[in-house]
Amino acid sequence: MTTKPPSYLPIVLRTDQRDALLVGGGQVAVQKMRLLRGRCRMIHIWAETLHPELAALVEQGQAVFRQGRVEEEALQAILPHMALVFAATDDDTVNEMVAHQAHALRVPVCVVDAPALSSFITPALVDRSPVQVAITTGGASPVLARRVRQMVEAMLPARMGDAARFMQKQRGWLKDRLPGMKQRQRVWETFVDGPAYEAALAGEEDRARSQLEQLVEAAEGEADHPQGEVWLVGAGPGNPDWLTLAALRLMQNADSVLYDNLVAPDVLDRVRRDAERVYVGKKRSHHTLPQSDIEAEMLRRARRGERVLRLKGGDPFVFGRGGEEMETLLAANVPVRVVPGITAANGCAAAAGIPLTHRDCAQSCVVVTGHARADGTLNLHWPSLARKGQTVVIYMGLSSMAELCQQMQAHGLPESWPVAVVYRGSCADQRCVTGTLGTIAEDVRRAGLQSPVLIIVGEVVHHRGEVMQAVPDYSTSKESA
Ligand code: SAH
Repeated sequence: MTTKPPSYLPIVLRTDQRDALLVGGGQVAVQKMRLLRGRCRMIHIWAETLHPELAALVEQGQAVFRQGRVEEEALQAILPHMALVFAATDDDTVNEMVAHQAHALRVPVCVVDAPALSSFITPALVDRSPVQVAITTGGASPVLARRVRQMVEAMLPARMGDAARFMQKQRGWLKDRLPGMKQRQRVWETFVDGPAYEAALAGEEDRARSQLEQLVEAAEGEADHPQGEVWLVGAGPGNPDWLTLAALRLMQNADSVLYDNLVAPDVLDRVRRDAERVYVGKKRSHHTLPQSDIEAEMLRRARRGERVLRLKGGDPFVFGRGGEEMETLLAANVPVRVVPGITAANGCAAAAGIPLTHRDCAQSCVVVTGHARADGTLNLHWPSLARKGQTVVIYMGLSSMAELCQQMQAHGLPESWPVAVVYRGSCADQRCVTGTLGTIAEDVRRAGLQSPVLIIVGEVVHHRGEVMQAVPDYSTSKESA
């Protein structure tokens, strides 16, 4: 029988005005003491013997020592005064008793190495106080937690705490000067991206302060006309690891995000949590929001001074109507920034292990839309598509697949010409079906593939390799027809 792993909510507990109890006086207790030290009003250590490091703490007045075996009644008396308890003795019955009492009195308790007895566990910590990064794997792997900790340690400048304290100190006057919260937020965002932050990190408070002053003056200057912007950002084919650094940064800075159904939830998760999310994709009635409404929404928000993130699947300038949106916005004098994304052609090809060009068989690659006209037919120049020595990549081609295959053959390609269809390339549920112009429509129907799929036509499909996924977690089902 498999039992469900426990779930944990990471929160930040305020402890400076409360005491903590540490039961046990050995090496393990020392580790927990290091966590509590400087964070609690007083540490109570209850143990039979005391490690020298704990003894030193008692001597300095940061901890009080209660010598002897833990007794139930005395424990009950002090527990309600504790913010939390660590049971860190080498005696299981004592640890269990402490846990039991703490649970009964609803005091958070952690029994070291016994998550089943604990109501909380302690994270791995990167400490740049007041900036602290807590890392937990929910007990799944302490080794992994330590590895993540190393990565974060390497990323955070050593003096980040100084910069944070500097920023804290400026909050008061900044609030008087710039009453608007959004405005202040923006000043801080510019601050942390620029030289003022570097100065703060280097401990050069005066320089940081005068540079901040300049940012505030600039913000005051445009206070009456806050300038909004629109960022047309490619979200790639679905795998969040394939986002660009620029996309990630803008996703963290946007005030609002307009997205549609092609943007994977895993990607959307990386957008700043307090950004307003506006879904402009298929509504319940299955009608897409008209393009003009989407553009009007972006304009309205930008004119209000928002930094609007228009997040698009793949690349914004490849069948994403990004071109139209850019033109409308620029015509309305709204500044636009464009960040490319990995388009479906690149993403699906890599994820499925199909090269788009290959010296042996494909000297060119064309991308076309398979979106049908109102009368159901395709508006494509078949003679230039039905060519050997070329790869044809078709977006939005699922519903017109039969006509597509038939036209390619009518214009000279053999029935045996290879085709691959990739469903949700780069996502966890990616699938790839291969066949020929003669069989693929039926193969895809039988495999039950739905939209979105990308069609790759050409001999490069024969070069398909069983590649590993770029991220080990993302597995491909290996279907072939
Ligand atoms: N701007 C997007 C394309 C938008 S058109 C880009 O650059 O990728 C929508 C079409 O893109 C879908 O019908 C499908 O053909 C293709 N597509 C996008 N993401 C895909 C994915 N992860 N897997 C397969 N096809 C995808």
